[in-house]
Amino acid sequence: MEFPTWSEIDIDALRHNVRATRSLVGENVRILLTIKADAYGHGAPRIARAAVSEGVDMLGVATLHEGIELRCCGIDVPILILSPSLISEIDEILEWDLTPTVSDLKFARALSFSLAGRKVVKVHVEIDTGMTRAGVNEDEAIAFIHELSRLGNLGIEGIYTHFPSTYVDDPEFTESQVKRFASLLDKLSAQGIEFPLRHTANSAAITQYPDSHFNMVRPGGMIYGMFPRPDFNGGGLKPVMSFKSRVVNVKRVRKGTSVSYGRTYTFDRDATVAAVAAGYGHGLSRALSNRGYLLVRGKRAPIVGMVTMDVTLIDVTGIPDVTVGDEVVIFGRQGDAEISVYEVADWCGTISYEVTCGIGKRVPRVYIENGRITGIVTLVGERLPKERIQLS
Ligand SMILES: *Cc1c(COP(=O)(O)O)cnc(C)c1O
Repeated sequence: MEFPTWSEIDIDALRHNVRATRSLVGENVRILLTIKADAYGHGAPRIARAAVSEGVDMLGVATLHEGIELRCCGIDVPILILSPSLISEIDEILEWDLTPTVSDLKFARALSFSLAGRKVVKVHVEIDTGMTRAGVNEDEAIAFIHELSRLGNLGIEGIYTHFPSTYVDDPEFTESQVKRFASLLDKLSAQGIEFPLRHTANSAAITQYPDSHFNMVRPGGMIYGMFPRPDFNGGGLKPVMSFKSRVVNVKRVRKGTSVSYGRTYTFDRDATVAAVAAGYGHGLSRALSNRGYLLVRGKRAPIVGMVTMDVTLIDVTGIPDVTVGDEVVIFGRQGDAEISVYEVADWCGTISYEVTCGIGKRVPRVYIENGRITGIVTLVGERLPKERIQLS
């Protein structure tokens, strides 16, 4: 089946990246794959299945519903909810066997209370060592953990912190976070409190700060073959996603013709314009208006005029034989030519992660393994069981 616009997900590249990460951290460190935001736009269920079969031990989501979706798809490895959960979410957290992060005593008490007489639930404690987003303040950590261990039914399985600054040149800050986290673990250990899982490292830390690996790492980007910035791409990681569309109209226009909304671009010569079937409603950012390029027939064609919700226009004047139906690459390879997700991110003034996360539900994900298509996922609603659809 052909689509006007689609995203290709290379599962072989994903498997390669899991193995590359495994060889960086060694056999004794567990890997929690950060799979939040639908696996950074790659489609969480299929990414989870491939990653788990390649030896990923645990998954990290940001929301309850992301966790439930994975459970509905038959994923049975432990799933950690990285963001703080609400008290109102506790029943579903338990029902779906998800592991919450706890950094608030009210929440911890409610969790312990709702469990009275039932099984023990595993929790991870987040310590804030400098992200200042969530987590227990470092100076309150010991008291907090003592309180927590007094509550019944809670099994404190893990402790972690997060780095704000691994992808910019700021080694002192990250190193000090690692030291402070390690010394907190030592203090707790001296008081007889041990945590089976201790984790801090995101992708950029995995490659740059071996001391941050502890006994579990939390890669996201590197498993998808990308870092927030391109300069960390050591380790021979392979991009997993490419984003493609097709030419749906070709027009010859006269000098002086303007294009698209607001008439922000006017040709100063006779030209050929191609309409491409992807717009900001697909995740081709409006920030690319009159900026950036798309590949067609192996050549870069500049985007002209405003990107619209459904369609983007490119100047193909110098490119012979552009025809309706031609494949267009938004990022990825076409023959010898390539536009990387980093270039697109740069043109948009953002990072690679936001580009892949921004690829919307209307874009089918086409999964490729061993050179053949092994699955096509279209609308989000279609892959959820009925009761989930009715919930929303
Ligand atoms: C997103 C996230 C990660 C993964 O970061 P990458 O840069 O994608 O490796 C790890 N830990 C937490 C808490 C996160 O929110």
